[in-house]
Amino acid sequence: MAFAFDIDGVLVHGDRLIPEGRRVLDILNGDNELGIRIPHIFLTNGSGKPEVARCEQLSKILHNPVSTDQFIQSHTPMRALAEYYNTVLVVGGEKYRCRDVAEEYGFKDIVVPNDIIAWDETVAPYRVFTEEERLESRPRDFSKVHIEAILVFSDSRDYATDMQIIMDLLRSKNGLYGTVAEDPISQRIPIYFSQGDMLCPTEHPIPRMSQGAFRIGLEAMYRAITGVDLERVVYGKPEMATYKYADEVMASWMETLHGEERVPENIYMIGDNPASDIVGGNMYGWNTCLVRTGVFQGGDNDEHNPANFGVFKNVLEAVTTAPVRGVVRSAESK
Ligand SMILES: [Mg+2]
Repeated sequence: MAFAFDIDGVLVHGDRLIPEGRRVLDILNGDNELGIRIPHIFLTNGSGKPEVARCEQLSKILHNPVSTDQFIQSHTPMRALAEYYNTVLVVGGEKYRCRDVAEEYGFKDIVVPNDIIAWDETVAPYRVFTEEERLESRPRDFSKVHIEAILVFSDSRDYATDMQIIMDLLRSKNGLYGTVAEDPISQRIPIYFSQGDMLCPTEHPIPRMSQGAFRIGLEAMYRAITGVDLERVVYGKPEMATYKYADEVMASWMETLHGEERVPENIYMIGDNPASDIVGGNMYGWNTCLVRTGVFQGGDNDEHNPANFGVFKNVLEAVTTAPVRGVVRSAESK
């Protein structure tokens, strides 16, 4: 048995602890009748910061250790792409933080939109480019650089500029800025998105648009301008690639805890969002638990994507109701 936790709306609200979240981790880390450690990983669509920084922050809030070896955020599986592409455009996130993330993943040559604006400001005619941004950018002659792939790591902070630059590159000849390909398909470089959520809850009363909305906008523009569909890869919950990656992380975390690398038979996904946590877990054959401390505000269960293991008041109720009590009982009977 093992658990996969969504973070926001389950264990924390932003930087604020959900008290039952701390209690659950105490229990799973050994404060239980058998004194055993029960494997668990964290699976979030969050992004924009290196894993180490995010885990340090979470450990502090939850008063429990959170290792990078049990932690998957939306762009974590994109680490594997560093093997295939040398020069990449990385889009999204605050300031130049996603460049740091990509460097940490092993990408060798990372371009961000600001590097291109610093080279040629006419690329983004409505953008006000500050001196501070210019100083931290790394301009060069992008008419001579083949960008091999576009990686959207996190939410765009400037849709107009980022969409313009992405469209320029998608329409270019093999990622050479300033060129326009004769054939929009054969010479097009690939594009990857770290997650597909349409909306994201914030302090604003109505949820704000997220990467999924940004992607749909790009797809519509691309189709209108070129007449062909944009092929793309999306990671994050509920995409299968992310759950497959989670299995690998779970298996190696089992080895860390119990010295045996295998995927646990019963995995419980605990999440607050039926459209990502629950639908993905259901499709992947996990037991899904929906909690009422976040996005879900409905009745007995979600109408479109019902949790197959049930709906719970909070994460503590989900973990203790059946699964943990069950393992304690079976262990006692041996
Ligand atoms: Mg959530």
